[in-house]
Amino acid sequence: MPEQRHSRSIYPGSVYQSGVPELVLASIRQPGDEICSDVYIRDGVVAAIIPSQQRPTSGGREAARVVDLDGRYVIPGLWDEHVHMTQWALASNRIDLAGANSAREAAAVVGSHLAGAGAPDAAGSGAHAALGAAPTLVGVGFRDVVWPDLPSLDLLDGATQGRPTALLSHDLHCVWLNSAAAERYGVSVDRSGLLREEPAFELTRELGRLPDTLVDPWVQKAGKAAAGRGVVGIVDFEMTWNRDEWLRRIAGGFDALRIEAGVYPQDLDRAVAEGMRTGLPVDGGGGLLTVGPLKVLIDGSLNTRTAHCVDPYPDGSHGLLTVSAPELLALLVRARQAGFVPAVHAIGDAANRVALDAFEAAGIGGRVEHAQFVRNEDFARFGRLGVTASVQPAHALDDRDAAEANWAGRTDRSFPLRSLVAAGAKLALGSDAPVARLDPWTAMSAATARARQDGRGPWHAEQALTRREALTASTRGSGRLRVGDHADIAVLDGDPLTVSDADFAAMPVAATLVAGRFTHGGA
Ligand SMILES: [Zn+2]
Repeated sequence: MPEQRHSRSIYPGSVYQSGVPELVLASIRQPGDEICSDVYIRDGVVAAIIPSQQRPTSGGREAARVVDLDGRYVIPGLWDEHVHMTQWALASNRIDLAGANSAREAAAVVGSHLAGAGAPDAAGSGAHAALGAAPTLVGVGFRDVVWPDLPSLDLLDGATQGRPTALLSHDLHCVWLNSAAAERYGVSVDRSGLLREEPAFELTRELGRLPDTLVDPWVQKAGKAAAGRGVVGIVDFEMTWNRDEWLRRIAGGFDALRIEAGVYPQDLDRAVAEGMRTGLPVDGGGGLLTVGPLKVLIDGSLNTRTAHCVDPYPDGSHGLLTVSAPELLALLVRARQAGFVPAVHAIGDAANRVALDAFEAAGIGGRVEHAQFVRNEDFARFGRLGVTASVQPAHALDDRDAAEANWAGRTDRSFPLRSLVAAGAKLALGSDAPVARLDPWTAMSAATARARQDGRGPWHAEQALTRREALTASTRGSGRLRVGDHADIAVLDGDPLTVSDADFAAMPVAATLVAGRFTHGGA
């Protein structure tokens, strides 16, 4: 981190008048600015932004702490608007098999973790850890459909030295076990070592049943990693009574991010009885925890062909509407009365229409989560009704083949970021971690380039956002730091408006602050 100087006299009198700023970020640039400025932070808020040339060289007041940022770029801290944080923490503590091009390679990756190249204990899982037995090694993300060889019990046994090991396929419909894991979980497998469908789901659930004492440190680590990417806050849609999980974690030292903890309809009565409503700070949350939106799922997903669509899938189905239109309307009316902002999960174009109809009839704004497929006549309704489109741009690239196969001839309105913005909708970017990485630069890069660095070329480039639009949709404001804002700030080692697409996707973040406190860098 840049040098830090104490007791330097730099405050212009006007800044000093209302109290001593606790921190000055000196010599920063906001993207697009020609000149450097100094950011004065007091009580966790941006108190002043003043051109560095106007900094008095002598005769000013004493400084609390000055960090010289040497012309680095500064943006408001980033938000990931859609996260499942416990699931993400679990996934990030499992061995990543996405890069394995064969069964043999996957076994070798696991073997090298055991040999100490990775962190086998952190990858472990199961209550056995608490009991002192070696935890089960868990790997995720393998794609056996493209492997030239077959997984086998022998192959995995040979790589794992008797350590119980379970590997989950990327779509979670298949688990590859070794003999020790089959014994530990009391399941029988043939020579392939594979479980599929329901037995695979069952074991996957079992692997996720872990003590808080194990998972909370992983969540803390995942929070720090997010801060390392410039993230200052997340909207957490973990499907539990989420508030108390976060109160426990914050009491245990979690302080890397602001958390907006979502509520599900099954908990709405309890939430209302306890006086909760969206946006309300939670007592005991250290200023970091607020009540999030009311999350309502009304359809499924593209990959399972359960997203509810106007036109049929190739098999003739239209997906599922899991909450009827009258039920949804009743929920939104209830949300309005109770002060909850609804966040309605709608992926298919028919589900998006149902969601917008309900927002309109209930007379309430809110958010649609995903909005992956939208009828042309519905784009403008987002803006008109005050419904934010909470979108996950990385999914567009993950699902481009699935979209071409299932929404053939109409993918021009799938993952329609530009169409939404052009029609006046407000966008909020997120990852849906663990579905995509909790890294806003991955999301923003997918939104702006509509391509990965994999040589495949852009997909529906006409739906891309500009860099400025992506930053604005990830920072809950104007995309620029302003006086009076929370001092939630990301300090970048590159200019986000001009670096290459590859550098933008991998943007180095020098420091992150929440309410003027360093959560990354700054040591
Ligand atoms: Zn989600």
